[in-house]
Amino acid sequence: MYRTGESMKKQLRGYDPGALKAWLSEQGEKPFRAGQIFSWVQKGISSFDEMSNISKGLRQTLAEAFILDNVKIIKRLDSQDKTRKYLLSMHDGEIIEAVLMRYKHGNSICVSTQVGCRMGCSFCASTLGGMTRNLEAAEILGQIMVIQNDIGERISNIVLMGSGEPLDNYDEVMQFLRLVNHADGLNISMRHITLSTCGLVDQIKRLADEKLQLTLAISLHAVSDEKRNSLMPVNKKYNLDSLLEACRYYTKQTGRRITFEYALIQGENDHASEAKALAKRLRGLLCHVNLIPINPVEERGYKASSNASISSFQKVLKDAGIETTIRRELGSDINAACGQLRAQHIESVSEDA
Ligand code: SAH
Repeated sequence: MYRTGESMKKQLRGYDPGALKAWLSEQGEKPFRAGQIFSWVQKGISSFDEMSNISKGLRQTLAEAFILDNVKIIKRLDSQDKTRKYLLSMHDGEIIEAVLMRYKHGNSICVSTQVGCRMGCSFCASTLGGMTRNLEAAEILGQIMVIQNDIGERISNIVLMGSGEPLDNYDEVMQFLRLVNHADGLNISMRHITLSTCGLVDQIKRLADEKLQLTLAISLHAVSDEKRNSLMPVNKKYNLDSLLEACRYYTKQTGRRITFEYALIQGENDHASEAKALAKRLRGLLCHVNLIPINPVEERGYKASSNASISSFQKVLKDAGIETTIRRELGSDINAACGQLRAQHIESVSEDA
């Protein structure tokens, strides 16, 4: 899979203590070392030599079998609003983006789950070149570790809203969630994690059965199948009725409120009649609506709705008793806002490298 000489090595950041134990016994090593190694890796160390309570011999064996430092920062772009976009390179040279948002109450990070995306939403930059590959759990976690090390501060909130469709990479995303939530790892609670999906119904139900306390966000963006089909091809496979039924199932299984994301595009989906239809569809569902003025993506030509239409859209929903907020757009001056993340221009990277 890797283009480099390290092709046979596994990424250590993806190993939980159980998997480490299994590996250690295969090597004839003491299984209790698993906990020690896991703690070191989860501290974000970038060299095996930092494992001071592990023998030199075992460190050597680890270094022969595993890659530790799997994600590297190649560029930082600072926005005027303190949002920072990171271009990160994976071990095989693939490049992804992650975004750091600094708030008074803590640091939040938006991570990617795939290189590119194959969902094809018409308003989103991440999908322009299709999907190159899934990210491994170790690489999703690695994004957090390198950024945490870079700023010297803890990350407290995670949103899986970077490039890629998390539920299209289900197993690796689940492993990532287990690792990041682990008491001996970064120990970030599920309640501080939001997973956003374009609506893969079967996987939403599977996720519901895991009964995790994470927040599920649904990228809705339209209230009729006809309109949603034209914006989001995934709707042709899983229509609105089946999606909302899966959402009801999710709230039943987890007791968690769903967030619906609705990006307002001028003249496309922002009419008051659509707000009314949305309110009707969401009636009785434990949810919250997040309205997002669409961020321009050059290739697409969609315009954001006017402030007046956004406010009136919000008012219709609120009057119908649905809690609705308008998302403050961070990072749009550096193309780090929602839907602007893409497998970035290699040219701009090599200038810096
Ligand atoms: N694939 C997942 C997560 C990545 S997209 C998903 O679809 O939810 C993260 C959020 O940004 C989604 O709600 C997505 O619909 C939204 N988004 C995509 N392009 C956008 C744009 N140009 N402006 C505003 N939001 C956008």
